Amino acid sequence: MKYNSIDELLRNNQAWVTEKLALDPTYFQELSNGQTPPFLYIGCSDSRLALTRFTGTEPGELFVHRNIANQVSLTDINFLAVLEYAILHLGVEHIIVCGHYDCGGIKTALEGRTIGILDNWVNPIRELYLQKQEEIDALPTREERLNRLAEINVVAQVKNIYQTSIMRQVLYERKAPMVHGWVLDISTGLIKDLNVLTKQWQLHTCPLLLEFRLYAMLKNDSNFGI
Ligand SMILES: [Zn+2]
Repeated sequence: MKYNSIDELLRNNQAWVTEKLALDPTYFQELSNGQTPPFLYIGCSDSRLALTRFTGTEPGELFVHRNIANQVSLTDINFLAVLEYAILHLGVEHIIVCGHYDCGGIKTALEGRTIGILDNWVNPIRELYLQKQEEIDALPTREERLNRLAEINVVAQVKNIYQTSIMRQVLYERKAPMVHGWVLDISTGLIKDLNVLTKQWQLHTCPLLLEFRLYAMLKNDSNFGI
């Protein structure tokens, strides 16, 4: 693979701008007017996972959060801020959790390599492996075991999205975006939709709102229409 030098990055930028302006002289003016992306993309930090390239999307279409092994951590304030902003302020219609095969984070989780703080970060995936150990260990090759754990991880992260307070709130208000679980196969460039069924996770009522409604009921406030 040929890598660009740091100077080439800037030259490439100038060339790309020239190319865009040749096609549409107002492209950057329009881009600077703001963003209303329809998609939130939660992906792995892996340098090969620039989803815009694989989906033919343009700047302004994907709001992005990436971390190692595309995790939805309920204690990660960075992620939770991205999710809340995407849902409440940008009004995204779809949330895509996109994992990938040949993921270093998945390898670390499955094989228990000790390489520092990454071990702590991928520990929830290690837990997923331990839950599904029998199924995963029964697969004949290392590649298949890693790929299966990558898929299981995506499903778990989709489920985690439904555990967040913001998602529970918008589900309650019937304004929730659709959530999708994908895996990108780097060896083919193709995206596999795992068709994750999410209905079973959509039934939880926001506990805070439930408490609020209960309080309203006790106060006999008809606005909350118990
Ligand atoms: Zn990865």
